[in-house]
Formats: sequence, structure tokens, C-alpha cells
Amino acid sequence: MRGFHSKLDSASMGGVAVPLNLAVETEKAQALLQTFSSASLLASAGLGLFCLLADHVLQAPFVLQHVWLRALLDNGVHGLIGLWSWAIVIGLRKKSDFYEVALAGFLASIIDLDHFYLAGSLSLKAALNLPHRPPLHCSSVIPVLCFSLRLLMWALRLKDSWCSLPWMLFVALASHHVRDGTRHGLWLWPLGHTPPISYWLYVTITATLPHLCSVLMYLTGTRDMISTKHGVAIDV
Ligand SMILES: [Zn+2]
Repeated sequence: MRGFHSKLDSASMGGVAVPLNLAVETEKAQALLQTFSSASLLASAGLGLFCLLADHVLQAPFVLQHVWLRALLDNGVHGLIGLWSWAIVIGLRKKSDFYEVALAGFLASIIDLDHFYLAGSLSLKAALNLPHRPPLHCSSVIPVLCFSLRLLMWALRLKDSWCSLPWMLFVALASHHVRDGTRHGLWLWPLGHTPPISYWLYVTITATLPHLCSVLMYLTGTRDMISTKHGVAIDV
């Protein structure tokens, strides 16, 4: 970030640099404040309510009788929670934000395919009766994957516009694991499994996770890049 700032300073030449830096700092502060704005808090309350409603629907006798329908709806709920969570993190301000939240939903949903991968079959019965949990459901894998992605982006020198991708992966995977954790607990290899997460703890963590992610992004400087990116775009 320091390099980015100095580039801005030198590009804007002398006296103009101060207002530009001020504008960048204001953008950063606004980006953090946005995560605790009333709209954002309302959106996470809505997310908590959505969890309650979705689980109510999944317990309906008609859904319970149809195993494939239940599996698809359950997977859809994972996707919608991932999508919703990322929308709270970034806020929906421009067209590309909608693509981002769709990708977050896709990531939160797609990891259930590892059930079929481990089963070596498309049989739902086989996928649901595995001898152990599939690899992408190991919560220790989340930081490894996110850091690896960050390193890969650094190695490929991807632009700042990609900087939030590891955090998107984090939100998508963590929200999925917490939801699954109500049934199986969290698998923290090599330490073992936690007891199942209580239902209300799951709802609370799900509704809080986007805000936690926003603060962590701010602390690690990722939010600087996002807001700077927006700031520059606005200035142009
Ligand atoms: Zn799962």
C-alpha cells in the first residue's frame, strides 16, 4: 500500500497530493464504516432470519421425503448464504459487484461436490454415507487455500481488483463449514472434530462473519486497496 500511495503522490504532483491522500483516507474510513452502517446491519439481521426460514423449509415433510430435493435445497441455501454474506462485505454499488457475489455463492455451493468425488460416484446415497468427511470440509484447509490463493495472485502479479478474492473464498468456505457444523461439528485436522455447533451459535456466526471479514480486510490492508480502487475510479 505504501508503494501505491507514493505512486499517487508523485502522479498528482505537489499540492494536489494532499487532497488526493485525504480523499483516499476518507474512502478507507467510509469503506470500514459501511460495514457497520444500518443498511449493512439490517442485511445481516436479514441473513440470520433467512437461515431460520430456510431450515424451517428444509424440515417440511414434503422436502424430507425427497432426498434429492432436500440435498439440492440444502446446497442452494449454502450458496445463498455465501452470496448474501459477500454482498454485505462489499456492498452492492456497481455491476461487477453482482458478479462477485454470484461467484461467492457458487464457491459456497460447489464444495459439496467433494462428497461425490470421495464417493467416486454420482449416487446421492453413497455421497451421504461416506466413511469420513471429504477434504474440502476440513476447516484447517480454509487458511491454507486462502493463503495459497493470495500467494498465487502475488506470483502472477494480478491487479488490485483481484485483491479480495482470497477473502471471498474465506467467507464462502467458512459460512459453509459453520452451517455443516451444526450437524457434524468442525473438522480441525490434525486436532480432530469439535462437538456440533449449537443452532443459535450457527445463526449468530453466520450473521457476524461478513462484519468480521470486513474488519480483518481492513486490518490486513485489503480494504485499503478496494477503497483506493473505488476512489481512483471516482476521481477519474
Ligand atoms: Zn457441505
